Amino acid sequence: MMFNTPRLRVSPNADSRSADERITLVVIHAISLPPDRFGGPGVEQLFTNTLDPSEHPYYAAIHHLRVSAHFFIRRDGERIDFVSPDLRAWHAGVSQWKGRERCNDFSIGIELEGCDTLPFEPAQYLSLAALLDEICVRFPVTDVVGHSDIAPGRKTDPGPYFDWHRLGQIVAESGASERLLVALAWKCGQAGLVCDAQDKMRWPFPLAQRPG
Ligand SMILES: [Zn+2]
Repeated sequence: MMFNTPRLRVSPNADSRSADERITLVVIHAISLPPDRFGGPGVEQLFTNTLDPSEHPYYAAIHHLRVSAHFFIRRDGERIDFVSPDLRAWHAGVSQWKGRERCNDFSIGIELEGCDTLPFEPAQYLSLAALLDEICVRFPVTDVVGHSDIAPGRKTDPGPYFDWHRLGQIVAESGASERLLVALAWKCGQAGLVCDAQDKMRWPFPLAQRPG
């Protein structure tokens, strides 16, 4: 598979990890700014503290946030790198995974440009699969989960339109590492069992629970 070179846009919203930290978790998010609109500069501006509060009512409510993700994958599959995975990005917030709190400490965060009411694009799944494989070659990842899995009740992304089963298929067919297949097994098994029609009926969740 061929992908364009990722674009680098450094976010100041990051700090050091503990020297002995092992990165074992990847967290998948979804975000669109303004909500439900794609293609604009809002997400890049949010992650670089340059969002203009006068540009949109929603921006006025969130422009003060100091947040970031390591990676952002746009609708066309383009990847933007904001924070080196060796550093801690600020994407998870109050969170817990397998009994351990503060998931930012030991995770990598990937934002997909998306919303609650539309499927993600094929190019995004391909770009994400390639990125996950890169990450799993370098770090001892044991789990790839959604933001909603580590902050249930508080966060809903990547939401019911993110197709874990499809991601798992692409990863399996691309000859990815065993480590990545194992790390995806829990989410992909869940996607195979759960009928998501009911989940979709519960959407949209309150705007206050966004952005990703
Ligand atoms: Zn999120």
